[in-house]
Amino acid sequence: MICVSIGRGRHRSMIAEARHVAEQGADLVELRLDYIRRAVNIKRLLANRRCPIIATCRREDDGGKWNASDTDRMTLLRQAIAEGVDYVDLEEDVAGQIPRYGKTKRIVSYHNFVETPEDVQSIHDRMVKLDPDIVKIATLAHHPHDNLRLLQLIENSKVPTVAFCMGEQGVLSRLLSGRFGAPFTYATFHEERALAPGQLSYRQMTEMYRYTDISKSTAVYGVVADPVGHSLSPIIHNAAFRDSELDMVYIPFRVPLDELGSFLGDCPDLGIKGLSITIPHKEEVMQFLDQVDTDAATIGACNTAVFDGEQISGYNTDHQAAVDSLLRTHSKSGTTPLKGKTSLILGSGGAAKSVAYGLTQLGSDVVITSRNEERTMALAERFNCRTVPWEERQKIRAGILINTTPIGMHPKVDESPYEKRHIDRGMVVFDTVYNPEQTLLIKYAREQNCRVITGVDMFIRQAELQFRHFTGQEAPKEVMRNQLKRSTGAARY
Ligand code: NAP
Repeated sequence: MICVSIGRGRHRSMIAEARHVAEQGADLVELRLDYIRRAVNIKRLLANRRCPIIATCRREDDGGKWNASDTDRMTLLRQAIAEGVDYVDLEEDVAGQIPRYGKTKRIVSYHNFVETPEDVQSIHDRMVKLDPDIVKIATLAHHPHDNLRLLQLIENSKVPTVAFCMGEQGVLSRLLSGRFGAPFTYATFHEERALAPGQLSYRQMTEMYRYTDISKSTAVYGVVADPVGHSLSPIIHNAAFRDSELDMVYIPFRVPLDELGSFLGDCPDLGIKGLSITIPHKEEVMQFLDQVDTDAATIGACNTAVFDGEQISGYNTDHQAAVDSLLRTHSKSGTTPLKGKTSLILGSGGAAKSVAYGLTQLGSDVVITSRNEERTMALAERFNCRTVPWEERQKIRAGILINTTPIGMHPKVDESPYEKRHIDRGMVVFDTVYNPEQTLLIKYAREQNCRVITGVDMFIRQAELQFRHFTGQEAPKEVMRNQLKRSTGAARY
């Protein structure tokens, strides 16, 4: 069940939003009385309600907007109970002062905007003594492990408990709380009006994550990154799971580099069966893998992990995606179409490694250039490639040009790593940047009538291959591609 929190300054707006979300299918609405700017008319707010209502009036100290007296606040909450509101939210310190009355259910709540305390169990034990129908605990996550601690609190509690972590690191607990037995989770009316850090909108919860379909049997997947908010992977993988009617969900996991090992240790308990791994974890993750396929081992980086209990296998689908994209473009040119052709790779980071490995396997004469000479040399040595100084990159006569730098990526879309006048008609131009798809480099290449491979081609291909590792079945390519195209430029969880 999803509870939509509504905080508006005017009664009319609050009533209209509550009606709207109830019509959209919301099962529960929280009215944040502390947001109303004038005297609260509780009777008016509760009249003609379309679904059960929680009355909440949060003090400033507890993350709310109420700045009048606490006596007035308690009077308001008592009034809501007297008017027969379905649920009332009472913080731990006032729950003892407002007794149970009528049919109104009591949510006894604890909020901590600073941290997730070590002793969450003893906080929960205290709250259970305050005659709750539901205990609510919301704390700020500083570590991915904070999520598991709160989810296990839900699982082990005899009293129905809604517990989750706030903040970007806490998103997973908001999405998985139902899987651990929470009676509901909170969402906001609109993604741009979150009432607490990390809160997702009702639309995101229902359309992208299908929250109400997540159960104990749902297999959990996700992308591990830091930061993760820009990732497009949840959008495309969830669309693919939905289209394939799989009981699977895909979640963004923001994990700091030094907490990767701890997070991977939590994965089996979180129900996680597979991960996409991206910046900055692709190399770091190698030490935690029990099995690594040859490609990932040779490249020294892994972007896909699959769990079999506590055993983790690692793969690299970036490399295969780059190879497949190049081969598709050269498909009419024979069986080893890249053999002997000169390829110029711009950049010497993670993507460059995968592309260099793929191109050398295909027999291409690879030249690497980047602004960091040391990394350029190291990469060239590893895969037996040539190098050229970054400043001289446009002097090379290459049949294939591959950009693996972020130049041209949103928002700096008017930049190109290569000037148009140096792009020859016969070249194949491959830009790994996928947001936007039509980068300035790709536009230049099209204007010169070059064959092009876009970052979207590669991104979709690596996601398709990941989908195959995750599910053992073929990915719905067109669904993924269409979803990505629709979302490019508006990337959010
Ligand atoms: P990375 O490891 O950080 O490497 C980035 C490379 O670009 C480094 O060589 C870096 O040089 C260079 N660079 C960064 N800014 C630059 C600038 N302003 N001028 C010149 N060089 C610059 O990142 P990555 O993982 O390889 O990703 C790089 C790009 O590939 C991103 O745009 C990413 O979206 C894309 N990518 C796409 C896919 C796909 O499926 N389409 C998959 C993976 C990556 P320094 O070392 O000097 O910083």
